[in-house]
Amino acid sequence: MNKMYINGKWVDARSGQTKQIMNPYNQEVIATVPRGDRSDAKDAIQAARKAFDHGEWRNLTSIERGEILFQIALKIKEYRQELAELETLNTGKTLIESLADMDGIAGVFQYYAGLADKDGGYMIESPHPHSVSRVVREPVGVCGLITPWNYPLLQASWKLAPALAAGNTIVLKPAEITPLTSIKIFEIFDEVGLPPGVANLVLGPGSTVGAELAENHDVDLISFTGGGEAGRQIMKAAAGNFKKISMELGGKNPNIVFADADFETAVDYALNAVFFHAGQVCSAGARLLVEASIHDRFVEAVVEKAKHIRLGNGFDEDTQMGPLISAEHLATVEKYIQMGLEEGATLVLGGKRPQNPELQKGFFIEPTIFINCHTSMRIVQEESFGPVLTVETFHTEEEAIRLANDSIYGLAGAVWTSDLNRAERVVRQLRMGTTWINDYHPYFPQAPWGGYKQSGIGRELSLIGLEEYTELKHIYLNTNPQPMNWFKEVKPK
Ligand code: NAD
Repeated sequence: MNKMYINGKWVDARSGQTKQIMNPYNQEVIATVPRGDRSDAKDAIQAARKAFDHGEWRNLTSIERGEILFQIALKIKEYRQELAELETLNTGKTLIESLADMDGIAGVFQYYAGLADKDGGYMIESPHPHSVSRVVREPVGVCGLITPWNYPLLQASWKLAPALAAGNTIVLKPAEITPLTSIKIFEIFDEVGLPPGVANLVLGPGSTVGAELAENHDVDLISFTGGGEAGRQIMKAAAGNFKKISMELGGKNPNIVFADADFETAVDYALNAVFFHAGQVCSAGARLLVEASIHDRFVEAVVEKAKHIRLGNGFDEDTQMGPLISAEHLATVEKYIQMGLEEGATLVLGGKRPQNPELQKGFFIEPTIFINCHTSMRIVQEESFGPVLTVETFHTEEEAIRLANDSIYGLAGAVWTSDLNRAERVVRQLRMGTTWINDYHPYFPQAPWGGYKQSGIGRELSLIGLEEYTELKHIYLNTNPQPMNWFKEVKPK
């Protein structure tokens, strides 16, 4: 369709402006989409406001809303291949990753379809006789959903499914460069018959469309996934009408390997932790912390395996790592690599664009590994958001914990050891929203996702992810109302 979706209609930008969408593998233009601005965002917000106030969606029973979400999940399964191909075309990630994303997205809609009617509230033991007290959950209202480019539809689904399940109306603003699967899911919304205005899609820059969502007083909640800089601006803008906010921000995540870990498996996962999707993952294990006694052998094994990672077209079955998303992002990752060199880290692999002539049009960078890193370095502290691994070393459990926590972020981290008592001790000390023991990366709708510290506010997924989109209301019923006579007439003395 390649249009925006406002009030149940496919529309162009009011200004008539368009934006070309590019395949990061070869810079070919794959679509031209409307480039909306504040006026389009206002239209969408008004449509969502009207639909919310009218109540057609929120006044359905939660069972009915759940049924519609279930139909959406089925449609995502039906269009799995097409959606995955669109995602690979637009992001460069391998098709197998995109297919896995689509399974996850269908799973999220299915999960919230099932959960929609299971969090209706609870009874309270009222302290007053002749009364019944209960707490119900109600939708917050109009929700502005702002998403990044790295997992375009997956991140959107983590917001869309619970927001709609709870009875809200929404305006989605995807990242400007990766709108294609978001457009497709609105085709699905249209197909299953969401009432007009319930779900709206506006395409355009963060500085206009995103900023309008954050500022506009008709928006009641902002859910944002992206970087800290934009997050800060959104928080400030959202203060105007005290919008509820939830933020999924960056991470610089430690992957801690003790000497007693299963060596081969830990090596294998160390690669997966950081090089999956070319490191463009908020929870990427971009900081490898290895116990000193195995450091050299472990690094050698990781480097040896990383040398053989096959870069290429995401549609090619042999490809293991695609390009970065854009020229701009490639420049950022290269800047961080340069910074690592200047800070004195030792480059042991990669650090440059691949020579292969077939890859010259794509935004590729080789898997890159630095050793001799420590937490005073910016390459360790800041998110390069690319396939760049920094290796630190430690001697004791306490040191591993201290180093791992020495970060402004607190999104995720992993511990590798055969001593489960130690694993438990360590993860309980890690200041992070998700910790894995002898694994890396698993996430699913049943478990909450979010960050400590500057990695975010609030949680997505799970029951808590649904509750983020609700208000609590206490309803008190007096079953035997009688005059209280507090202000009884007092006769003058
Ligand atoms: P970004 O912050 O540049 O953009 C994210 C979204 O915000 C985009 O849609 C953008 O247009 C919009 N935006 C930008 N400025 C805005 C403003 N002033 N007001 C309103 N909207 C604005 O992030 P990105 O580069 O697209 O994504 C990468 C970042 O996202 C990384 O930091 C990564 O760690 C983070 N991320 C976090 C999670 C998580 O679950 N914690 C998941 C994925 C990505």
